[in-house]
Amino acid sequence: MDVRAQLVMVFHLDKCIGCHTCSISCKNIWTDRRGAEYMWWNNVETKPGVGYPKKWEDQGTFKGGWVADGNHLRLRALGKGPTLLNMFFQPNMPKMEDYYEPFDFDYGNLYGAAEGTDQPVAEAFSQISGRKIETIRGGPNWDDDLSGSPLYAAKDVNLEESRIVEEYGKMFMQYLPRICNHCLNPACVASCPSRAIYKRGEDGIVLVDQNVCKGWRFCTSACPYKKVYFNWDSGKAEKCIFCFPRTETGQCNACAHSCVGRIRYVGVLLYDAEGVAQALLKPDDQLVDAHRAVILDPHDSAVREGARKNGVSDLWLEASVKSPVHALVKEFGLALPLHPEFRTLPMAYYIPSLSPVLSTPGDSHELMEHGLFPEAETLRAPLGYLASLLSGGNREVVAAVLAKLVALRSFMRARNLHQPMDAGVLEKAGLDEAAAVQLYRLFAIGGYDERNVIPAQQREEQDPYVRKGASGFGILTKAGRGK
Ligand code: SF4
Ligand code: SF4
Repeated sequence: MDVRAQLVMVFHLDKCIGCHTCSISCKNIWTDRRGAEYMWWNNVETKPGVGYPKKWEDQGTFKGGWVADGNHLRLRALGKGPTLLNMFFQPNMPKMEDYYEPFDFDYGNLYGAAEGTDQPVAEAFSQISGRKIETIRGGPNWDDDLSGSPLYAAKDVNLEESRIVEEYGKMFMQYLPRICNHCLNPACVASCPSRAIYKRGEDGIVLVDQNVCKGWRFCTSACPYKKVYFNWDSGKAEKCIFCFPRTETGQCNACAHSCVGRIRYVGVLLYDAEGVAQALLKPDDQLVDAHRAVILDPHDSAVREGARKNGVSDLWLEASVKSPVHALVKEFGLALPLHPEFRTLPMAYYIPSLSPVLSTPGDSHELMEHGLFPEAETLRAPLGYLASLLSGGNREVVAAVLAKLVALRSFMRARNLHQPMDAGVLEKAGLDEAAAVQLYRLFAIGGYDERNVIPAQQREEQDPYVRKGASGFGILTKAGRGK
């Protein structure tokens, strides 16, 4: 067992209101500069929809991530031959039109325009070329709230039946906030010929060394989530840094801190690095269980011993026990990985959306009138859709999570209204009363310190000379592939 510690974010999709405050906080801090205008390290997509960049989930086009090939994993796009051929050209990368041409408005024209018969307007111009843009044709959330539109929703690769969006009665919509997943098996790191991208041993954050990056853009192609961006001004790759200057001092990420819906939870997970490769060889529909098996119990003395041996401090071990992320991902099994079939083992997890519960006509309405929630199968977001997003197509996994969420709501509703409650409802879903109360606190009333348990790195207590050139607690040698 090789015990490592990872900082992880969980998103509760039911609570996201699509306000984009997270994206704006991130942009203001990290990407509000030349060459990074089009980058949204944090973005929020409307689902069903094509997302940003458009159709990023379609690996038939972009060829990102890994595939299980017999007993080993290989990058979908790269072998030795294509690597050499693609040194100067990445055929599978999204193009500018897949993102959008970044633009701003000429506000000076509102004040400085020559006198005329028309009202002066602030015309749009390209932030890359400076040329005037007559008609803006795209933006980072261009299809925001347009899930009902066949133009966008029907192109969502997760939809089994595109006609579903055309049927008003079955129409559904949800938001999907996304950051870099700081994966345990990051395709971006594996694909970089310059070894410029690395995963820090101490907290698992994946970073690009700007001094080493040569701008080959293999990482942009290889990341199946399209979360590495090319800065056209500096010629280097850039990506979400999980706000490490904040987390190192125990503060939570800007996106999580500013989140209006309080949908985000940040904390520590302990995992077995030796189990990662084997876990990812499982068939698609077994990957969620395989993920869960890699995550370790922080109460287990052997795990704690192993963690200490790898340099994980007591402060981090304490945080792993209190981690809201551990509770949501492992203990209660509510949070699921986004597209586990990409086989990068993403370390951002999502609690699938249950709402709106008043969805399909008939049974659901009747049940609600009696103070009960409907069966998971009758909810508006089709099970198959959520399974395609969050469980490698395994409907049972998603149904089990939704059943827990339904039971939790029914139980807390009865409790808060002082109505009789059948204890079997919780039991049937695999929960008990204590778990329901703990989850209710986390979901509904928990404060900042309950939702975010982030131990500081305490770098001031470490000997800088001993650690010079090292890449983390877990890896005390210089970073590099195969080391
Ligand atoms: S999401 Fe993409 S960029 Fe982030 S670690 Fe995973 S493979 Fe790399
Ligand atoms: S700030 Fe929170 S609620 Fe608003 S869009 Fe972002 S994740 Fe959703």
